[in-house]
This record gives sequence, structure tokens and C-alpha cells, in this order.
Amino acid sequence: MNEYTKPLPTPTADSQPFWDACRDEKLTCQRCDDCNTARFPPHHVCPNCLSVNSHWEEMSGRGSVFSFTVFRRVYDPGFADEVPYVVALIELDEGPRMLSNVVSIDPDKVVCGMPVKVVFEKATQEITLPKFEPTES
Ligand SMILES: [Zn+2]
Repeated sequence: MNEYTKPLPTPTADSQPFWDACRDEKLTCQRCDDCNTARFPPHHVCPNCLSVNSHWEEMSGRGSVFSFTVFRRVYDPGFADEVPYVVALIELDEGPRMLSNVVSIDPDKVVCGMPVKVVFEKATQEITLPKFEPTES
């Protein structure tokens, strides 16, 4: 029986490789074969040059908090035991930005520009979620 009570992503044809890599604890993004732009979320067309040629590439897992908010109310019962928690837009060192959580820190100590690195939370057999925690520097 699945004990995980929070909403889960539904992989699509475009995003399935991303979730497969997360299950192996690898953070990946697509990189355009024509203009070399790394992108997220997954899409079959490059938003920079409209090329359909791309490959999946493992990211460093490092980035910084671009923007964030602290959720202090329970909007979904699955999060009742987690408030307050941080929902953040993380800018990866390679450029793409992704929505995630900043964990392992008091939410009131999170600041924009804070360096973070990816950590993985296994939610179910199929889904492992990438989250971010502060780095030392
Ligand atoms: Zn491109």
C-alpha cells in the first residue's frame, strides 16, 4: 500500500526520461543539439531556437534560490505535517530553473541567491522527487 499522501507528478512522454533519471538519483535536463541551451521543463522543442534536436544530460545538481515563498497554511491535507515549508524556484548552475522545495533548513532562514544542491526523496516506486538543501558555501 502506498503511504505517500501528497500529490504526485504524472510523467508525460516528454518528461518520462526526467523522472526515470530522478529514480536513479540523477538530475537531468534536455540540452539542445543546435544552440546548446539547457532547458526545463521538458519539451520536444527548444524554446530558444525551436529545434527539435536535443539530448538528455545530467546536471551538476547545484544551483541557487532564484525566488521562494513559505507555505504556512495547509492547502492540501497531505502537507499538514510539513507546514511551514519552502516552495522555491531553483536556478541550476547550467541555467534552467525548476520549482521544488528547499529542505533541511528553517524556512525563515532561506534567502534569494542561497547556494543549494539537489537531494532526492523517494515518494513511491515510480516517483522520486528532486529537492534542494543549502550547501556550505
Ligand atoms: Zn536550441
